[in-house]
Amino acid sequence: MPGRATKIVATLGPASSDPPLLEQMIRAGVNVVRLNFSHGKAQDHIDRAALVRDAAKRADREVAIMADLQGPKIRVGKFADNKVQLVSGQKFVLDAGRSQPGDATAVGLDYKELPRDVKVGDVLLLADGLIVMQVEEVHGDAVHCLVTVGGELSNNKGINKRGGGLTAPALTAKDMEDIKTAMAFQADYVAVSFPQNATDMEMARQLCNVAAAPFGHKPHLIAKIERAEAIPRLEEILRASDGIMVARGDLAIEVGNAAVPALQKRMIRMAHEMDKTVITATHMMESMVHNPMPTRAEVSDVANAVLDGSDAVMTSAETAAGRYPLETVIEMAAICKAADEAGMMDLDNNFTGKKFTRIDQSIAMGALFTAYHLGAKAIVALTDSGSTALWMSRYRIDIPIYALTSKVASQRKMALYRNVRPLLMDTSAERDTALLQAENYLKERGIVRTGDIYAITCGEPMGSPGGTNMLKICRVV
Ligand code: PGA
Ligand code: MN
Repeated sequence: MPGRATKIVATLGPASSDPPLLEQMIRAGVNVVRLNFSHGKAQDHIDRAALVRDAAKRADREVAIMADLQGPKIRVGKFADNKVQLVSGQKFVLDAGRSQPGDATAVGLDYKELPRDVKVGDVLLLADGLIVMQVEEVHGDAVHCLVTVGGELSNNKGINKRGGGLTAPALTAKDMEDIKTAMAFQADYVAVSFPQNATDMEMARQLCNVAAAPFGHKPHLIAKIERAEAIPRLEEILRASDGIMVARGDLAIEVGNAAVPALQKRMIRMAHEMDKTVITATHMMESMVHNPMPTRAEVSDVANAVLDGSDAVMTSAETAAGRYPLETVIEMAAICKAADEAGMMDLDNNFTGKKFTRIDQSIAMGALFTAYHLGAKAIVALTDSGSTALWMSRYRIDIPIYALTSKVASQRKMALYRNVRPLLMDTSAERDTALLQAENYLKERGIVRTGDIYAITCGEPMGSPGGTNMLKICRVV
């Protein structure tokens, strides 16, 4: 397979905000840049978006921007000495009514609903699961706990409940403001944190579309699956989203570490079946925050996420705050490429059982099937919205898919799609001219040469979204 099929999402942060470095990271393989709205103010995000667009232009690569909303903050308050040391076996009180700073016996809560969300026997995990306590009593605003795993608890650390059940709504007032900011710079993707159901995603989409309308924009929505409640509702959440993120950080805390690998596989499979995209995220190359090389286990983790069928693998602190952001991307790209090449083709197995009724979807499948059996060099889609390329990319095939679109917004969205190389070309000409232009375009770039076979799809009349109705098999002369 020429090139790498699996895409890389890199989180931007202080470690990667230097323009020449970011340009190098994009050249090394970053396809999507994630802006984390948990840090910084509106103007910071606007500046970061401009930084990404400029670096992508200099590198001459299509790069999507993903605005990742903070979501509900379920956190403890502050301590008089910024932190305390909790020991196993001690009692500790999480007190929504406490206004003075915390100490070794009790702390206030940012999240005032906690006492109503918990009952005796519940297990609470604090500071990303490093500290564990069990609820022994609830008195009014005070949740009395027994610490079962101690450790250092510092200001504003997060709280999760094992098994889920905290009622905080997915979209906060801050998220709603952040959506406006993100739509003003036309973020290609919006990631929603902690959605519980399809309604959370539908609400986010509505807010995004209203905020984006003045800019003639429509982002794609990614549901971060990181709550226990989201698991039984995966199908409805997927239906309401364009893609999901396997957000293993918070998810692992809520469902327990051991359940995550199987869930990852299930989520990826479901996303594919429903023609949605999927990103596998968190701790993929975590040791590279400090070390120039990943561990063997991390290499396997990234490779297995690829073999599971992820559209993209993601970096968090590795590129946002680590010492080796560029090296992380270089390593990740190499692991993805090797795993792509080792990946099994699932075309014949999955293909015949799949049901579809749409003409454009049937054409997309026809292109894959024919290209596969003829050993074509390339599959080419003249696409407006990118949906033809999305359908094609749901199957693992070792022939690259080139999506030619005249819309920059579609091109950027497709940057996330597995095995799709989105290219900008004016597709407005009438059919025969457009097909000729496409072939010349591919020849100029060395993608196909004389004697090569490629499959190309288009719609007639040209340029109408969802109008793909033609498949042509060409031999380059
Ligand atoms: P976060 O989401 O990095 O925004 O917390 C990802 C995760 O929880 O895995
Ligand atoms: Mn998270």
